Amino acid sequence: MTGSRYTRQQLFVLRNHIPIDRVIEALDIHNAIHDGQYRFNCHVCHKMNTGISRKSNLARCFDCEKGYNTIDLVKEVLGLHFLESVAYLEKIKEQMPAEINQKYPCEKMARQNEMVHIGDVFKSLISPSPDKVSSTRALRQESQAISDLRKRVGYLEISIKSLSEKIAFMERQ
Ligand SMILES: [Zn+2]
Repeated sequence: MTGSRYTRQQLFVLRNHIPIDRVIEALDIHNAIHDGQYRFNCHVCHKMNTGISRKSNLARCFDCEKGYNTIDLVKEVLGLHFLESVAYLEKIKEQMPAEINQKYPCEKMARQNEMVHIGDVFKSLISPSPDKVSSTRALRQESQAISDLRKRVGYLEISIKSLSEKIAFMERQ
């Protein structure tokens, strides 16, 4: 194969606009909130002395002293080549149209806002009660619940999108 079929801009989007924690969850890497910080299980040393930066969208293992962007992480965990990792991230990106397109407003904005709103409703359903906040176990369960709900919202978004496309197709008939 000669060169990459991906443009710099496409790779930028995959590195920066797919939240790194979303990739960690898609890869089924164990993660939890400890002391208010997001941690994940390092694929190399299997410890949780790790963290993510939402600003730079990087995951880091403090024991291995190694940082990963979304592409690095997929390469490392699944043992894939660069282009295979990029293709994997493209699939994750396709599954999260609302969040990504929020950064790129388009004519479908109104409809996407509705979808985001559905996510917010789920989040509000599982807001912590004050007596739970002190318990690490409760926090971990809550983080798992949020992650499960996120996945379900993701599937709902795909269903809504495919239904909208079907309706649009029928209207054109
Ligand atoms: Zn490590």
